[in-house]
Amino acid sequence: MHEYSICQALVDAITAEMDKVEAPRPFRLIKARVVVGGLRQIVPDILQTAYEVITRDTPAKGSALEIINIPAVATCKKCGWTGEIEDVFFQCGNCGSTAVELTKGMELYLDKLEIESDE
Ligand SMILES: [Zn+2]
Repeated sequence: MHEYSICQALVDAITAEMDKVEAPRPFRLIKARVVVGGLRQIVPDILQTAYEVITRDTPAKGSALEIINIPAVATCKKCGWTGEIEDVFFQCGNCGSTAVELTKGMELYLDKLEIESDE
């Protein structure tokens, strides 16, 4: 259940960002958007549940979590093939070489916060 520790870190980042937001207070968080790479092995449903539980006692309580999935992409150093891969233990889809370089798929960051002021 590594989603819970990842989610805890995300919620920490979200609440830290909320402290820095320049908006009339009080405001509430409507939605947090996070970008997750395909090789992070994160199950979106579990992350959603973790988010609900972890934000319960934070200012982010009641907000929605939007997960943007980035497919993992690798480039072969041998033949130059580039394509989507589905596993951490990957090899070139063209020549079978394991000398491939990961170019996308390890992303994990907070992309955007949507807030609303309670005026
Ligand atoms: Zn190749």
